[in-house]
Amino acid sequence: MGAAVVVIDMINDFVSGVYGGPRAEASVPRVRGLLGAARSAGVPVIHVTDAHAADDGEFRIWRPHAVAGTRGAEVVEALKPVKGDHHLRKTRYSCFYSTRLDGLLRTLGVDTVILTGLVTNICVQHTAADAFFRGYRLVVPRDCVEAVSDLLQEQALAYIRDMYDAEITTSSELIKRGFKA
Ligand code: ZN
Repeated sequence: MGAAVVVIDMINDFVSGVYGGPRAEASVPRVRGLLGAARSAGVPVIHVTDAHAADDGEFRIWRPHAVAGTRGAEVVEALKPVKGDHHLRKTRYSCFYSTRLDGLLRTLGVDTVILTGLVTNICVQHTAADAFFRGYRLVVPRDCVEAVSDLLQEQALAYIRDMYDAEITTSSELIKRGFKA
């Protein structure tokens, strides 16, 4: 069994678009570094990104974002999936909801999910819950997830650590130990 990196919503709308910002933009090179190291180590990279219908019910809460087929829904240029990566589309906060992520992880022999991407207190946190419910071990490199404030970032990381038994670490630490548990 091994690890996989799940990259959540590193798309134009969440990095530089309608819900983007400098904090998300600053995380891109760190995620890029982690993904490069993961691929070199043979650790699968799985992008999971929002792809909403134009009338998605989520838009009752949020301004329209990540409408399927638009530039806003595309992975940012610096993190574009490469050959061998996987890319699944989702319509809710959790990467497991109505996607084939669980089956893909099991097919790949994955027992440890490394969560990266946006945003820590919403899609990352909900995905952590669903991964925990399904029996996966969780690792979160804190420099590769981001929220809109330090408070939301730290609260979410503490919640994910305490509720889902996640290891909160850094990308450099993960790379140094070769993505091993
Ligand atoms: Zn959404």
